[in-house]
Amino acid sequence: MTPLEQILKSQITTQGPMSVAEYMSTCLLHPEYGYYSTRDPFGAGGDFITAPEISQMFGELIGLTLAQVWMDQGQPAKIALAELGPGRGTLMADILRTAKAVPSFAQACEIHLIEASPKLREVQAATLSAYTPVWHDHVNQLPSDLPLYAIANEFFDALPIRQMIRDGEGWRERQIGLDNDALAFGLSISAPLAALDHRLSDTKDGDLVELCAQAPLIMRTLAERIQANGGAAVIFDYGDWRSLGDTLQAVYAHEKVPALLKPGQSDLTSHVDFEALITDLPCTHSRLTTQGVFLERLGITDRAQALAKSLSGTALEHHIAAHRRLTHPDEMGTIFKTLALFPKGAHPPAGYEV
Ligand code: SAH
Repeated sequence: MTPLEQILKSQITTQGPMSVAEYMSTCLLHPEYGYYSTRDPFGAGGDFITAPEISQMFGELIGLTLAQVWMDQGQPAKIALAELGPGRGTLMADILRTAKAVPSFAQACEIHLIEASPKLREVQAATLSAYTPVWHDHVNQLPSDLPLYAIANEFFDALPIRQMIRDGEGWRERQIGLDNDALAFGLSISAPLAALDHRLSDTKDGDLVELCAQAPLIMRTLAERIQANGGAAVIFDYGDWRSLGDTLQAVYAHEKVPALLKPGQSDLTSHVDFEALITDLPCTHSRLTTQGVFLERLGITDRAQALAKSLSGTALEHHIAAHRRLTHPDEMGTIFKTLALFPKGAHPPAGYEV
């Protein structure tokens, strides 16, 4: 039994079943035993590998997109370049290295990192030791008087979700309780939920809909700043349009495991509902695009060929595999999606369409 499992069980014994959202946030961010609080989960030795850890090309192309936005929007002298959930800091480092191709853009960037895990803040500080990032717990703490250039890769999929199962005109919430002293899923009694009234017309009894309370609030904060001061946000994640079905997933040592196994030691994510991210925003958003199409539009194949010229042997094989992994429909190319926020009336960032 993991130490966190003991804590969860005694909480359920004294306070009753907990929501999936509470379970997720405890497992991921418990100060002592949470998954992100205690480890660096990325890469071959960790539990999963993300796009920036697969290849530098991912961050390079995003860096060029952001530099282009900056030029299109009149080259402001100072901007907040912010990343939500920067992991190891690799994506930000790749963006900043690429930004040097446009020196006045690089000079304009003030770096802000939204990171909950003290352990990962340390890793980010080491990766970005050539720069002076400022860390925050929440997007509300980003400067409110600067154009905002925000990036988020696999951030929203780590935010806690509730799972609601349609039952007549109401919903039963999936909860975690105890069965024979083991963590087990159960259901609350049925009740209406105003936040899901709009899903009564396209769901039937037994359908499961996921709901993330934090994501729309975070998006609204980004959108307000972008509309007021300029800039853009580019968001990448595993997911699709309009939640339907159970997507809660646990991964331990690169393998999918049951969601209640090894709490605090396995990664927990869900698919992002991009529709919920862009509902009622005060700025414009692009169409949802697959990661593969986005990277191809930005010329990843040309960049891959240029980098390949200086490689041989296993390094070349890894590079070719990385290109495929980022873009191919059988790998991350289709299941990962991206969209951008930008001010009303502005051009969409390169690689995006309205
Ligand atoms: N973007 C990185 C890491 C993705 S993993 C990459 O692509 O490699 C998710 C990241 O979000 C981790 O850095 C994690 O610690 C952070 N995170 C998760 N929940 C958070 C929250 N509620 N607030 C701030 N950061 C959070």
